[in-house]
Amino acid sequence: MLVAYKYRLYPTKQQKQAIHFTLERCRLLYNRLLEERILAYKNEGNSLNYYDQANSFNERKQHIPALKQVHSQVLQDVAKRLDKAYQAFFRRVKSGEVAGIPRFKPEQRYDSFTYPQGGHTIIGSKVRLSKIGDVKIKLHRQPQGKIKTCTITVNNGKYYACFSCEVERQHLSSSSKQVGVDLGLMHLAVTSDGETIESPRHLRKSEKRLKRLQREVSRKKKGSTRRKKAVRILARLHEKVANQRKDHAHNVSRELVNQYGLIAFEKLNVQNMIKNHHLAKSIADAGWNQLVQFTTYKAESAGRVVVQVDPRNTSQLCSNCGEIVKKALSVRVHSCDHCGYTADRDVNAAINILQRALAS
Ligand SMILES: [Zn+2]
Repeated sequence: MLVAYKYRLYPTKQQKQAIHFTLERCRLLYNRLLEERILAYKNEGNSLNYYDQANSFNERKQHIPALKQVHSQVLQDVAKRLDKAYQAFFRRVKSGEVAGIPRFKPEQRYDSFTYPQGGHTIIGSKVRLSKIGDVKIKLHRQPQGKIKTCTITVNNGKYYACFSCEVERQHLSSSSKQVGVDLGLMHLAVTSDGETIESPRHLRKSEKRLKRLQREVSRKKKGSTRRKKAVRILARLHEKVANQRKDHAHNVSRELVNQYGLIAFEKLNVQNMIKNHHLAKSIADAGWNQLVQFTTYKAESAGRVVVQVDPRNTSQLCSNCGEIVKKALSVRVHSCDHCGYTADRDVNAAINILQRALAS
């Protein structure tokens, strides 16, 4: 699937001149190629195609040195544009529509040129355009996927770059199923459908090892060789755990997005996460954050919805009658005195999260 991203450009005076120079060169070339097609047909009764014309460019540059100041693929795209205009014309003739023959372009009707493959690179807050320079660009959002073409347009004295990007889209049939997800320490997550999502065994094992190693490091004397060695091993294990966790978050998020049309999470308090130095908690935080992030972007490209709701009281509230049922963290079952509803503590919380998302 092709997606277009358009950004405002802020060229310098010199760059503006180069852009207008390119536009004018492309326009003149377009009109020249059109004229040649018309003449070839009139005089010899044959029609020139894209290749006939694009192959003539090297020779043309000998006679018109100004063409050398325009990126060669940009020139080729001019021939492509004319070819497209002709193909559209023939299509209309064939289908019996009123067919306007391709026309010569006056200055005000030629306002863009295209780099079809190379010649353009985004570097920080600039886009490097071959033969034009590093032009300031306002990237309000990074383009996603693989950038294919870059078209420069001038409109009402404003300059724009439009990138056409190849984005992979998951083809999913629409789903009306909705789910609330309660993230926890005991289990990675529990859903409002009563499903428990655990971390895989190998990840839990690595996390346990991580905790043990962390303790070992802090017991060793600062500056000692043993400590340095332990720190190195710890760093390597940290990386391994991070990768395992990432893989798992990818798997779980894919499952969720495949199954549900709407997925509700608690809003994670990133501020608290950063402050938290307790290892077990920080490991859990990292896993949750990643899961929510991955689910959100996968959902976006699959046309699904992710909602994050206020986490207040989700575990205390009765999802059946709305009364507050106080319980300590150790109490694993929600049992409501008001309405008699009984459920797993986390499932009750997950249902509350879903209900809050639907109400918002
Ligand atoms: Zn109740």
